[in-house]
Amino acid sequence: MNPPTYEIIIGLEVHVQLATRTKLFCRCSTQFGASPNTQTCPVCTGSPGALPVMNRHAFQLSLQTAVALNCEIPRFTKWDRKQYYYPDLPKGYQISQFDLPMSEHGWLEISDPDGAFPTKRVGITRAHLEEDAGKSMHDEAAGKADSRIDLNRTGTPLLEIVSEPDMRSPLEAKAYLTELRLLLTYLQVSDCNMQEGSLRVDANINLGIPTDDGEIRTPIVEVKNMNSFRAVERALAYEAERQYQVWQETGHRIGDVPKQTRGWDDQAQVTKGQRSKEESSDYRYFPDPDLIPVTVSEEQIDEVVKKQPELPAALRERLQANYKLSHYDADVMVNQGRALVDYFIEVADRSQDAKRATNWVQQDVMRTLNENGIGIDEFPINAERLAELVLAIKNGELDSSRSRDVFQFMMDEKSDLQAALKALGIEKVDDSVLVNLCRTLLEANPKVVADVQAGKQQAIGALIGQAKKQNPNVNPGQVREICLQLIQEMPS
Ligand code: ZN
Ligand code: MN
Repeated sequence: MNPPTYEIIIGLEVHVQLATRTKLFCRCSTQFGASPNTQTCPVCTGSPGALPVMNRHAFQLSLQTAVALNCEIPRFTKWDRKQYYYPDLPKGYQISQFDLPMSEHGWLEISDPDGAFPTKRVGITRAHLEEDAGKSMHDEAAGKADSRIDLNRTGTPLLEIVSEPDMRSPLEAKAYLTELRLLLTYLQVSDCNMQEGSLRVDANINLGIPTDDGEIRTPIVEVKNMNSFRAVERALAYEAERQYQVWQETGHRIGDVPKQTRGWDDQAQVTKGQRSKEESSDYRYFPDPDLIPVTVSEEQIDEVVKKQPELPAALRERLQANYKLSHYDADVMVNQGRALVDYFIEVADRSQDAKRATNWVQQDVMRTLNENGIGIDEFPINAERLAELVLAIKNGELDSSRSRDVFQFMMDEKSDLQAALKALGIEKVDDSVLVNLCRTLLEANPKVVADVQAGKQQAIGALIGQAKKQNPNVNPGQVREICLQLIQEMPS
């Protein structure tokens, strides 16, 4: 592979809707999908004289996230008005945090299960709380060019998480987003539903191009309007190539170009120029006189640290260390969510057979979940019962060829192992019965005996089929073992 002709520099801004029942500064509901403008009040629509009061729960969720992102939490944080005019912002300003955000200087570790890039830390510049704006609906159906505004979303709490420009490829950007979403989901601070706008991503991207006069950096472009992680990955790959082309076409002149904003067109798979980006001075930030600053105590942070759930990275490590999962398998499992991981751990612990537990959970259980679009809580075989199945296979009471039938039966009939075995006529064959059966087979097949004695152990295979025909409940492994034992005891 040729060395790359440029380095891609990516930073991401993620807006996460926090999972509160009510808005950030009023008691209106945040429920998604209600009829337009039914979840508003004088505070979130900006009636004169209406006073905002901070939602403590929203701040608590932000603290949990900031701690999990290894951020420093200042003891004092305040609210600022970010002023701009837009029809979906009736107050004429957004309440946000400017120079004293509630957290800064954190990091999130990202890795690639296939090892496409080395594990690295992406810096978190800051995470701050702010309110969402409303939604403009441009309805051009039926020949009408009708624009309407829905203010239900106005005032919904958002945590804006800004990363350092530490990512070096679209793949790293996707890995960062995936890990961040997983973290937020494990913390239960957001549902992270991109379709409903609970997680929105903007990307800043430029190139570092090595030249004889040192590295040249192309102007930073902010890419918006990406509706999935896949779209982010594609938009960034496209944008990197585009910037490189522009750099080549303009004769390598990089002037004082203002920061540009471009929107991703998912249909056309290109980015298109939008309005040029405001500088922060254009917003005329100033402290919101209606809100008191927030002080955060040492005890408050200690409490959050103490109550922090096990995070995805730690859980992945535990699965690898204690259950011998590969990085890849641990990743797959952790991505399914905490409930599935707990299910797996219970099966593995009860059966004391992590390897078989991994195979059953990752293959049969997860396939069924995917096929039926259900979660592990709705899965008909609970962990205790699956562990019984795994144990029966481990102890040789059930051979793997029949275990799938048993699994299917337990699933269909919501039965336990014993009921499934009974219904399917599977019972453990008595040792003496098994020995007699093997003896009879060996007497009837002197050629096999001779072959084995001549060193061809695989000749036994022919007897296993016969044994199963005579008694479907026999365990092939046991038949093999007993037959070999009997041949060894024969006078040669
Ligand atoms: Zn309201
Ligand atoms: Mn923002």
